[in-house]
Amino acid sequence: MSVKVDKPSSVMCKEGEGENLKTGDNHMSPVMRLRNAPRCHAMSKRTKRQCQAPAERGKTVCRFHGARAGAPSGKANGQYRHGRYTKEALAERRELATLMREAKETLARI
Ligand SMILES: [Zn+2]
Repeated sequence: MSVKVDKPSSVMCKEGEGENLKTGDNHMSPVMRLRNAPRCHAMSKRTKRQCQAPAERGKTVCRFHGARAGAPSGKANGQYRHGRYTKEALAERRELATLMREAKETLARI
């Protein structure tokens, strides 16, 4: 490697810039995916503006604003003693309460 050529490398850099401009059209590029990512909806107390950091997957807020707050739900993290407060039991009771309320309203109208 005795020959050092400056001109061709500068030409290569210009071609590189052309490729960077092309990423605006390529929707699979990591740059475009990050640019189009859903943003955090949390509001700053100081600036009164939205955070605008990329939101966590499936959430409306970023990792700094509580996207990972609390323990993950599911059997692995449950503290089951009697099953009274499982999601299914709570939903069943809620449904029954709604049914009872509707029945009472219907009876009151008669
Ligand atoms: Zn945020």
